[in-house]
Amino acid sequence: MKTIIEPFKIKSVEPIYFTSEQERISILKNAFYNPFLIKAHDVIIDLLTDSGTSAMSSEQWAGIMRGDESYAGSDSFFRFEEAVQSITRMQYIIPTHQGRASEKILFSILGGKGKFFISNTLFDTTRANIEFSGAEGIDLLCDEGKHPSFIAPFKGNMNIDLLQKTIEEKGAENIPLIIVTITNNSGGGQPVSMENIKQIKTICNSYNIPLFIDACRFSENCYFIKQREKGYENKSIQEIANELFSYADGCTMSAKKDAFANIGGFLAMNDATLAQQCRNLLIITEGFPTYGGLAGRDLEAIAIGLKEIMDENYLKYRIRSIEYIGEKLEVAGVPFIKPTGGHAIYLDAADFLPQIPAERFPGQALCCELFIEGGIRGVEIGTVMFGKYDANGKTIPATMELVRLAIPRRVYTQSHIDYVAEVIIAVFKRREQIKGLKMIYEAALLRHFTAKFEQI
Ligand SMILES: *Cc1c(COP(=O)(O)O)cnc(C)c1O
Repeated sequence: MKTIIEPFKIKSVEPIYFTSEQERISILKNAFYNPFLIKAHDVIIDLLTDSGTSAMSSEQWAGIMRGDESYAGSDSFFRFEEAVQSITRMQYIIPTHQGRASEKILFSILGGKGKFFISNTLFDTTRANIEFSGAEGIDLLCDEGKHPSFIAPFKGNMNIDLLQKTIEEKGAENIPLIIVTITNNSGGGQPVSMENIKQIKTICNSYNIPLFIDACRFSENCYFIKQREKGYENKSIQEIANELFSYADGCTMSAKKDAFANIGGFLAMNDATLAQQCRNLLIITEGFPTYGGLAGRDLEAIAIGLKEIMDENYLKYRIRSIEYIGEKLEVAGVPFIKPTGGHAIYLDAADFLPQIPAERFPGQALCCELFIEGGIRGVEIGTVMFGKYDANGKTIPATMELVRLAIPRRVYTQSHIDYVAEVIIAVFKRREQIKGLKMIYEAALLRHFTAKFEQI
């Protein structure tokens, strides 16, 4: 088989600034060992997130010029609405400035004390918006999804037995909706099968609970369905997406992911009353319903990006580039979540650094070492992000200690990816010398963004 090449040519480039290891040690110290506090200029390969970091196409840039900036009823809004409807077939499309704005609106209306929202795994902002409303979020990931090195095709699936039990236990009347994250970002970018979505929908129907999709990476998820699920091999991504969304009553979306946009998001749904409530809140917090916190040019870029993201040549390259790092790490014995998922490689920091206990943050320590070794910036998805305290102030660790290296869309080439693998392997070779960290500052919610650490 021939090399799977980047399905694009490069027309405009941005420089990478290089630093020495000595410089990086002091940069990291000044950033309190939190990669979020490092200046982007000081990063060589930035894998902090795939959110809003995509390279836009020449068509999208052309769309930026075409953007209609009319306050109400702009042409760009209707092109945006048409693009979202062609994928979701949903009736009410509400633009927002990004995914969490959609979440804030939805959960402000449906949440509140005594309510429960069930998911395969809630993303951090989704959980935070649920909890901020006073409600509780419940993750019911399938068992396969909890074992990093266990190979299964759909490790993002929800545990169907537990779903039924949990609904019975909490009472259907206290569950305003069930939300499935595709692909499962916090659980390794693992896909959810069509079969699982159908089963969830059947249970939702029997209890009269609406089903929502957190659709940030819908296209990557649909590509995995095409690759791995029987009966979908010959369907287009658009057809698979249409079927998937046909089981849902609504969705939240961050266009910063599978829409190649640098900003944007939306809410889509079929319930007219709920849509009206959402739009009323949107007007207060985001803007008029035909722009929702975005410029006309952003709506235009999203409309074009949503079509480009379903191109199978792109998806093949996208999924392959993640798998490619996985193959290199596998040979070197580096522990990571298998099989590789959609948008990122997830190192298993608990296995990588067994000498560091959860309350000394092995994932955070590994992030720091990747930065020192090669100027790579990743993010901890472990006890810093999801840890809690018990009544005595003792740390309740996260289920997994992961380091996510998210690959921005269409930004890095194969040699960048080779470099990333080399840096990870170099850190792995000196893993026994690596020590943990102590947290010296934390905010009440989403603490990972601003937490400060010191070395021990
Ligand atoms: C990024 C993301 C969100 C939030 O979207 P923002 O645009 O960052 O506000 C929600 N859910 C998932 C799965 C995400 O990856």
